[in-house]
Amino acid sequence: MDQAKAERNGSSSDDGRTRKFWRNLWCLEVVHKVRHFAWRAVKGILPTKANLVKRGVIKEDRCDECNEEAESEGHLLWSCHRAQDVWQNSKLHFNFERHRVRSFQDLIWLLLMSENPDVDSAKEVLMIVWAVWHNRNEVRHGGRKKNGSELVHAAKQYLQEFNEANVGLPKLIRNQGLAWAPPSISRYKVNVDGAVFASQKSVGVGALIRDSYGQVVAAISKKINAPLGPLEAEVKAWEEGVKFAREVGVYDFTLEGDSLVVFNALR
Ligand SMILES: [Zn+2]
Repeated sequence: MDQAKAERNGSSSDDGRTRKFWRNLWCLEVVHKVRHFAWRAVKGILPTKANLVKRGVIKEDRCDECNEEAESEGHLLWSCHRAQDVWQNSKLHFNFERHRVRSFQDLIWLLLMSENPDVDSAKEVLMIVWAVWHNRNEVRHGGRKKNGSELVHAAKQYLQEFNEANVGLPKLIRNQGLAWAPPSISRYKVNVDGAVFASQKSVGVGALIRDSYGQVVAAISKKINAPLGPLEAEVKAWEEGVKFAREVGVYDFTLEGDSLVVFNALR
């Protein structure tokens, strides 16, 4: 079995690697819907014909394109001749042997889990599989079928537009003393807090980043030697929280703190 696949299907001792893979995937700076799509594709839960047959929705699972195999994620996005045409057109170069890649899931795993993750290629791969899926749906609804080079062009252009537009401001939430609630799937939550140490003429600020499973992704606490008041300490904490999240590559997040004044000022 291929190493990447063996790792993905590995025992519970590989849980840490699997978590790391999902974290790396969620941290990729692409449009949220694309990241969410990729997550479903890797999990094998897209409404492909194969999955719809399993769920008893339809009776026939053949790929519309080749009519040779069941339309699963693996077939549609990798092994079908249409997908292969797209991958060839992508002209992506990887720093691992191509024969290790048996599916697009292998490809994403190898890109994200190598010693030096190839984030740029991973982003392109995500955009390409999304473009293939999007056009597959368009065609099923009477739209025009794009060829491999058109799909690659569209994927690259979309990624470039997104990079240029960058990302919006994080969503703000004021914690009103309720129990901590996880962010929605695929988002992160950054909780911040500031404290004043008056006698030491300093403040402490902290930020904790958690994913939608409540797992701590990263945390930081800092002491700042400045005689700040409680409100300034809070402001500093919000600021540090945003900065820290960006440093660790988390962009799609909700920022939560408990100062109403800061919350209103930032909103
Ligand atoms: Zn096919």
